[in-house]
Amino acid sequence: MRKVLISVLMLGSAWAVTTAIGHTQAPATMSGPDALLEWPLPPGAQAYAKIDGRHLHRYVEEQAAIARRYRDQGHPKFWGRIIGSSADAESAGWLAAKFTSSGLTDVRVQPLDLSPQWFPQQWAVTVTAGGKTIVLESAQPDYRAAALPAGGIDVEAVYAGLGSEADFSGKDVKGKAVFTYTMLGAPNENAVKRADDKGAVAIFEVDMQPGNMRYQAYPSNTKAPAFTVGGDDGLAVRDLIASLPPGQSVRVKATLDVQMVPNLKTALVWGTLPGATDETIYIVAHRDGWFEASGDNAGGVASMVGLAEYYATIPRAQRRRTLVFIGLDGHHNTGPGSAVGGVWLNEPANKAKLFAKTALSINCEHPSTIQTYVRPRYLAGDVVRWSNMYTAQQWYAGGPTRPELTAIALKAFKEFGVPLLSEPNPRPPAGDLGRLYRFTPGVATSEFFHYFHTDRETPETVPWTGLQATTRAYAKIIDDVNTQPLSTFQRPEESVPTR
Ligand SMILES: [Zn+2]
Repeated sequence: MRKVLISVLMLGSAWAVTTAIGHTQAPATMSGPDALLEWPLPPGAQAYAKIDGRHLHRYVEEQAAIARRYRDQGHPKFWGRIIGSSADAESAGWLAAKFTSSGLTDVRVQPLDLSPQWFPQQWAVTVTAGGKTIVLESAQPDYRAAALPAGGIDVEAVYAGLGSEADFSGKDVKGKAVFTYTMLGAPNENAVKRADDKGAVAIFEVDMQPGNMRYQAYPSNTKAPAFTVGGDDGLAVRDLIASLPPGQSVRVKATLDVQMVPNLKTALVWGTLPGATDETIYIVAHRDGWFEASGDNAGGVASMVGLAEYYATIPRAQRRRTLVFIGLDGHHNTGPGSAVGGVWLNEPANKAKLFAKTALSINCEHPSTIQTYVRPRYLAGDVVRWSNMYTAQQWYAGGPTRPELTAIALKAFKEFGVPLLSEPNPRPPAGDLGRLYRFTPGVATSEFFHYFHTDRETPETVPWTGLQATTRAYAKIIDDVNTQPLSTFQRPEESVPTR
C-alpha cells in the first residue's frame, strides 16, 4: 500500500496507481463505481457489513427508472417522481413492495388528497436578433410560475448581469424580458424579485454552471413567470446582445401554458418492524423529486430500505424499540397545499398517537452526493470535474437540548466515514425533518450540490460508498440510542421558529 501511495505522490497520476499494483488492464481514469473510495468498517462493527452500498445503489437506479418512464409517457420537459403523477403512484407501489419483501408488517399505502397541482403543459423560448435565432432548450419555468398570455409574448430582452441594483442602473425593464446570471456559491442578489418589482414580464435566471443543464427551481413568488436557463444558452443570449450595434435590440418570444390539475392524490407508505417494546424509532424519506431525482431523494429512500432490510435480519427480542418506516409524499410541490403527508403527521391527534414514545426520528434525505468541482483552477476545460469521493453533508442531531444524541451521532458519523460540515445546522437541513424535529428527537444529514434538481441528477451522482457509509452510521445511531431510556432524548415540543 505504501508503495502505491508513494507512486501517486511522485508521478501524480492514476496511471501510477494501476502500474504500481500491477494491473495490465487497469482503467486509465479514477471514474466509475470501482474507483470510489470505500470507508473500512471500524473494529468490532462487522455486523454492519450487511449494509451494502452497491446493493442500495440498485434501488436508486430503480427509482430513476420510474421517473424516466414518466418522462417517456409524454412528459419530456417537466418530469420526475412528481407528486400527484403516475410516477408518484408507481413509486408508492414500488416502496410498499420493498417493505413487504424486506419482512416489514402492516405495510400500507395511505392515500392523501391534493389541492390542484401545478403542471406546465408546454412552453417555448426563442431569442432573435440580426437574423440569428437561439432556441433556449434549457429554459425551465420555476415551480408555480404563472402562465404567459395566450399566444405568448414578443418583447425586448434586457441584460441585467448579476441582477444587483447596480446591474439594473439606468435600464428600463418594464414590459421586457430580463436575463440575470448566477450560480451556486454566488451571493443571492434577489435578482428575480428585483426584475419583477421593476415591471419585467418574463425573467430568465441563467445558472452559469458548465454545460446546459435544466434546473427545476422552487417558486419565485413573482408576478411575472421566471425561468431558469442553462449556462450555454444563457451565455449565447449574452453574446447575442453584445454583438448588436447601438440602437438594435434582441427580441424574446416565449409561451407558457399551465394547468392546475384538481383531484389528484399522493400517499404515505408505511411499514413496521415490531420491537421488544412499544417505544418507537421512525425512519422517514421523501419519495418525490424532479427528473431522475437520484440524490434528491432516491438515495434517501434507498438508505431507508437498507435500514429496513438490515433490522429485519435481527431477532425481534434484540430490537429494543419498534421501527416505523414512512415513505413520505415529499415537498417539491412547495407552496400552499404542499407536503400533505407532513401536515397529516402534524395533526395534533396523529402526533399524540404516533410520537408519544418516540426515542428517535431519522430523516434519510440526500445521504450521498458525488464530490464535484466546477472549473477547478489551472485545469483546462469548461466542465464539472468528478472525484472519487462523496461530499460532506449539512447535519442536525437533536439540537442543543439533546447533547447525548449529538454525541451518539457524531461518534457514528466519524467511525463510519460520513464527512460533515464543521458546525451543525441550527435547525434540520432543508427537508422533511423540518416537520418532525420540534416534537421528536431528530437526526438528518443532507447535501444540495451541483446536480441538485437538474436533469443531470443521474444515479451516477449518488456514490454507493456514501450510501453505505451514511446508512451504516444511521444504524449505529439507532443501536446506540437503543441503549438509553426515552428520557435521555425526549423534550417538550419546541415552538415554531419565527423565521
Ligand atoms: Zn430532498
